Amino acid sequence: MSNAKKIFVQPSLPDNLQKLLELSKNLWWTCDYEAVNFFSSIDPQLFREVEHNPIKLIYSLSREKLKELSEDKGFLFELEKIWNKFEDYKKMPRPFSKFSGFKPGPIAFFCMEFGIHQSFPIYAGGLGILAGDFLKGTSDLGLPVFGIGLLYKYGYFTQKLTPQGQEELLIEFENYFSPAREIKGEDGKAVVVQIKLLNRPLFAKLWEVNVGTAKIILLDTDIPQNPEDFRKITHELYVADRETRICQEILLGMGGIEALSTLNLHPTIYHLNEGHSAFLILARLLKLFKAGFSLNSATILIKNSTVFTTHTPLPEGNENFPVELVEKYLRDYVEEASIPFDEFLNWGKVDSSKVFWLPAFAIRFSDFVNAVSLQHRDVSRRMWKNLFPNRHLLEIPIDYVTNGVHFSWVSESFNEIFDRYLGRDWKTTDNIQMWERIRNIPDEEIWEAHLKNKRRLSAFLKRKILSQCLEGGVSPFIAEKIANSYNPEYLTVGFARRFAPYKRPNLLLSQKEKLLKILNDKKRPVFMIFAGKAHPADEKGNELIKEILSFIRENELEERVFFLENYDIEIARYLVWGVDVWLNTPAHELEASGTSGIKAGMNGVLNLSTLEGWWIEGFNGKNGWAVKEEKIYRSEETGMSVLASKIINILEEALELYYSRDEKGIPREWVKMMKESIITTCSRFNMNRVLNEYLEKFYIPSWKEYEKMSAENYRPLKEAEEEEKILKKYWDKIYLEKFEISERGEYVEGEKMRAEITLYLGNADPALLSVELFYLHSNEKDFSIIPAHLAGMNDGRANFTAEFNLKGYGNQSIEVRIRPSNSLIKKLHPEWLKCY
Ligand SMILES: *Cc1c(COP(=O)(O)O)cnc(C)c1O
Repeated sequence: MSNAKKIFVQPSLPDNLQKLLELSKNLWWTCDYEAVNFFSSIDPQLFREVEHNPIKLIYSLSREKLKELSEDKGFLFELEKIWNKFEDYKKMPRPFSKFSGFKPGPIAFFCMEFGIHQSFPIYAGGLGILAGDFLKGTSDLGLPVFGIGLLYKYGYFTQKLTPQGQEELLIEFENYFSPAREIKGEDGKAVVVQIKLLNRPLFAKLWEVNVGTAKIILLDTDIPQNPEDFRKITHELYVADRETRICQEILLGMGGIEALSTLNLHPTIYHLNEGHSAFLILARLLKLFKAGFSLNSATILIKNSTVFTTHTPLPEGNENFPVELVEKYLRDYVEEASIPFDEFLNWGKVDSSKVFWLPAFAIRFSDFVNAVSLQHRDVSRRMWKNLFPNRHLLEIPIDYVTNGVHFSWVSESFNEIFDRYLGRDWKTTDNIQMWERIRNIPDEEIWEAHLKNKRRLSAFLKRKILSQCLEGGVSPFIAEKIANSYNPEYLTVGFARRFAPYKRPNLLLSQKEKLLKILNDKKRPVFMIFAGKAHPADEKGNELIKEILSFIRENELEERVFFLENYDIEIARYLVWGVDVWLNTPAHELEASGTSGIKAGMNGVLNLSTLEGWWIEGFNGKNGWAVKEEKIYRSEETGMSVLASKIINILEEALELYYSRDEKGIPREWVKMMKESIITTCSRFNMNRVLNEYLEKFYIPSWKEYEKMSAENYRPLKEAEEEEKILKKYWDKIYLEKFEISERGEYVEGEKMRAEITLYLGNADPALLSVELFYLHSNEKDFSIIPAHLAGMNDGRANFTAEFNLKGYGNQSIEVRIRPSNSLIKKLHPEWLKCY
């Protein structure tokens, strides 16, 4: 081995180009077309070659070019203009200020991946894109959020396609071209934090990425201080090896908390975006113990300040580890915290099997749990109901915030139209009504903007298809032919997403004849584009890719159907801008929300999707097409082929609409649907709405709770501890002796009811308890909680009464519930709930 030290030397830029470099290092530029175009204008060809990475672009310019730029008055003027725009952005008054009145503390947003731009590949799919959009949004709104994640040496794998399916390449990511900067301490040296792993120190260097005014802090273990096995921890995103994976997650959770302390950041809210970071709860427990809090108090504080967002409706898709692995890596920590190890394990269990579920751990330590669509909320409640024994499904404390996307997914051509017709502040206004004005835009302009996107897609496809064919060994002549086969006039259908079995990318192939008929129609041509990666460990996903590739080959569809390799943010962008129909076929209840359809919809691309995830809330009958899946077929195969047939019928309808043009060549009905699509998606599924909901449902209540809790040196916690000790003595002895409600032959909606309840209390003070009726009404689809009031005591018994009106009709039920009256004890002991 050579001892040569490899280093990267940056060019020394002329002084008047420093702002250029500064701009390139804040990912704000990815959200501003003027900035994007400005970088591109330096050398469009080179900009493409460097994957639109302006840092790499600048570092790749020749000395002559740099000199030329530094003397180019026009260029410097443009630079100043963009710089001022950036400065104005940072200083603009933030809509968030409407929540002024109290001073929020910072929010730490933990996620395994962040998808902001294709040139920064620390993301794999939807979760990462959402996290990236989330941070862009917090920067727009001025919310004090910073991200915590890992910096991967190879990121997620790069996909190459061969006739055998997908090949996975690990390409080292050139850190010196990334927007991440080393965080330096006061001594000018890179900040390195340390945690323990298997009794050895594990070091992680900290990096910082700027996204407008938001920041992401990234941990990196590939540094000389670490032994070889530890250096590998941050090599690959979603590494398949379970041991490396648990190390990654310990690093993210426990190392993340360490990083926050080292940087002197003291969040008041910890937002866990998915379960991967849940071990941070253990790190926080340890910290709180050191600060003198008991387990009870620490638990309450953590619950009050933890927001957990689940994204995965498939049980096996949720992060979990065999208890042996958890024991191997975490036993020391748990012992250090003096928590009995079995108790710790119980926090992650959902049943008696020896599996530790990170989401279960997170749910048990969070008062603010949410799913990412209404449908997903109901699925999640069912999935995690075991964690809440005795509770009715309707009251499982999982709420929802339907996902949205950041407005930077709106294409340049529609940006211009929106600027013109809605005013320049359309990205930050919360006036939903404003979007109705889209209807007033002349059809011609909408259609022209769409055509512009289609032409851009066409140019992009030509380049991509050509290089993919040539690399795959196709002869130059044929490659050229395939690359030129796409015509932007064709109706174009896009299907791009992770190749996971539940997304069913092969669904339409179950009606091959029918599909071939429309694909081979010469009069009304259709072009289909597929893209997507399968996780390397997902064999079924890989099969699906192969199936589509063979379908193309066997039916000689090379000039009608194309599978683009290595789906990433760039491909996503061109597709959601420039196809006509966005196809989505997830299986029932397995899509948490889906976001690519929202991106498409904002650009007037029409969704054709099974009625799942966000589309249940987004579809209005006029803005695209929805297919409902009937669960009436005994065999899955029949079900699939019926569904495929329905979808192809809709495609035929779509073809009819798309190719019905008036004398100006405009498909009026289609454009009408495009407008509907833009209005519904932009008004409701944007990141501002999402963030405002997080604020109202979780962040603000959490901040308020925190203020209450910490008042008078945590007095409420101390009182609760005392009360808990007393209640604990009596709890098991308390039981219901009598429960009666107004007896009638018939009950009619609206009638007044009275309940009488007698409890045996032993010697417990009834003030320690809250007695209530759990009234399940409206045909058992809704419930009310009715407090019962103490009416009298005698002989160790307490009489309570409650009054209520019958609500709704149909089957109903009324039960008595006894819980601690102190809300903190309730929090601490969700299992202290007696139902009769
Ligand atoms: C938006 C996006 C996703 C997520 O899309 P879904 O519809 O949720 O599958 C995945 N990958 C990329 C690159 C995206 O841009």
